[in-house]
Amino acid sequence: MAVRLDTVLIKTASRCNLDCSYCYVYQGEDTSWKQQPKKMSVETINVLVNRLVEQSQSQSVGFAIVLHGGEPLLLGYERLQYLLKLLRESFNHELYPISLQTNGGLLTKKYLDLFSDMKVSVSVSIDGNRLANDLARVSRSGQSSFDDTVKGIHLLKSHPDNDFLFAGTLSVVQPSISPLDTYNFLKSLGTPSMDFLFQDGNHDKLPLGKISFESTEYGSWMSELLTIYLSDKEPVKIPCIDDIIRLSMGGKSSKEGKGQESFGILIIETDGEIRKNDTLRLSFDGADFFSVRENVRDTPLSRVINSSEFKAVSELQTPTSSTCLNCASLDVCGGGMPLYRWSDQNGYDNPSIFCKDHYIFIENIKSTLHGI
Ligand code: SF4
Repeated sequence: MAVRLDTVLIKTASRCNLDCSYCYVYQGEDTSWKQQPKKMSVETINVLVNRLVEQSQSQSVGFAIVLHGGEPLLLGYERLQYLLKLLRESFNHELYPISLQTNGGLLTKKYLDLFSDMKVSVSVSIDGNRLANDLARVSRSGQSSFDDTVKGIHLLKSHPDNDFLFAGTLSVVQPSISPLDTYNFLKSLGTPSMDFLFQDGNHDKLPLGKISFESTEYGSWMSELLTIYLSDKEPVKIPCIDDIIRLSMGGKSSKEGKGQESFGILIIETDGEIRKNDTLRLSFDGADFFSVRENVRDTPLSRVINSSEFKAVSELQTPTSSTCLNCASLDVCGGGMPLYRWSDQNGYDNPSIFCKDHYIFIENIKSTLHGI
């Protein structure tokens, strides 16, 4: 049970310069982003950083700070510089890593110099080669984002501080594209790490590329990726696979959504509202609201973190479905991300919609480890 802050995700901008068809923010059930200011104001930044300092004094361990959006660079250079200076005056980078998740299209050398000075690592969203990426990651007018993103990655790679700056790529699995093409393309970009997410979905809205609860398109895709990964003599790190391997050997996961560890995550919206993990948004409109809509302007983060509601959200990681509780892979799978368990009928009291995928992938990893 998490009663501390592990990660604070700051929505510096509530809009995006892309319009990806699978986006959980703009294409999901939730529409509250429309009421948010487009950018976080200087006043909100000041109050937020004070709240984070206050929180750091009330817990013995640090926390990760993630700049997110929408597209976080839409905050603009001056205000981002202001936010980062304020954060770095109070938080050292060892205990308080700052990272930024971007689509890469707005990256410039000036931004990268700032991130280098402020010790901010950058992860770029790209789904693979042009064909894979253009299946969903397009502009509002339907134009490909591929060239701009690849240009951003090349800028990152060519920066003198790229070893620190470039954290890696984050891709949504496109099950119709071969894992080999995806792996080879991302590796060719020189990424130090490639992480993967599944397409959003739940029991009422099947994820793209999945034909039923019983089908295993994603488990097969990941199993193929595992074979490619393990047979590469110079592999590029795949954190989501490393986590499953570690969990299968009795270790812990580094991220939410696997294993039985719970993580204390808070989201700060551009107006300063404190929200639950925003991946819950896909379940229903308002799923990420706390019952009292607190704002950093009036409320210390500790009041939310010590609330029974925060504890309940952290405990959502532990599945309640009897299928999961009796499952041989529960220790490793952990029931998957809560958003994937949702159905209008049972709430989160279901196995993951990716249950069969998780199961065959974990079995694959276990038999591979057994053979070593
Ligand atoms: S594999 Fe399926 S039943 Fe087992 S813990 Fe994961 S979601 Fe639950």
